[in-house]
Amino acid sequence: MADIYTLGMDLGSTTSKGVVLKNGKEVIGSSIIDAGAGTTGPQRAFEACLKDAGVDRSQISNITATGYGRNSFEPADLVISELSAHALGVHTMYPDARTLLDIGGQDSKVMSIGKNGRLDNFLMNDKCAAGTGRFLEVMAKVLEVGVADLKDLEAKAEQTVSVSSTCTVFAESEVISQLAKGADIPGLVRGICTSVAAKAASLVKRLGVEEPVYMTGGVARNTGVVKALERELGVKITVSQIQQLNGAFGAAVYGFGRVK
Ligand code: ADP
Repeated sequence: MADIYTLGMDLGSTTSKGVVLKNGKEVIGSSIIDAGAGTTGPQRAFEACLKDAGVDRSQISNITATGYGRNSFEPADLVISELSAHALGVHTMYPDARTLLDIGGQDSKVMSIGKNGRLDNFLMNDKCAAGTGRFLEVMAKVLEVGVADLKDLEAKAEQTVSVSSTCTVFAESEVISQLAKGADIPGLVRGICTSVAAKAASLVKRLGVEEPVYMTGGVARNTGVVKALERELGVKITVSQIQQLNGAFGAAVYGFGRVK
């Protein structure tokens, strides 16, 4: 039988991601573009994942979009909600997952997943930058480093310089004043990661933690936040091997299920 290719696009607030899937299982190409919905990011991510997979658009059975910008992505044949895409993605790759925490650029979501992969319950924070990737981006800018450099700085920390304000704007002023006082930078980065983790952990606790706990989204790439979450929740957290691509992967899996 001929191979079936499906393509999933996750058009987030901060990044655009694409995955090309072969026969509903194997990721043969992917892309992550640091520009989200409403920019040229979605189209660039679409072209980049086709190129990475080495397949032509005409070979793709269907294209499924998810994420914040899913309804304005013209090439999409199908759309799926972010929560459904994430639950399907993590269940397909890790059938034992019972709790999934996804922290993206402007929101964080925690999902309870049943044994059959069904989304049983969820909680979401999309009203406040604290506890999301945006908080880390604001702080990285103040520290004059890239957001991807925070994990290496945190790994050097020998202490925690606490960031007590939960509001991003106040926390930014607090970090600026700590820097002016000559605070230890790795310790300050640990404090920043801990602040994000504390906020996200309160969301997880409200929903109820059932192990095994998995984590996805761009912030899962920040080991400082993952370690702080493990401390806050007192459980082991497994970062999905496809991290930021889980939503796009789930969308492509959904598309595979709809191939006639
Ligand atoms: P969305 O889907 O909401 O657009 P993502 O899941 O792509 O967002 O997450 C974006 C966030 O991921 C950024 O705000 C940043 O904090 C974090 N991030 C992105 N790339 C990296 C990286 N290489 N290392 C650490 N953190 C990263």
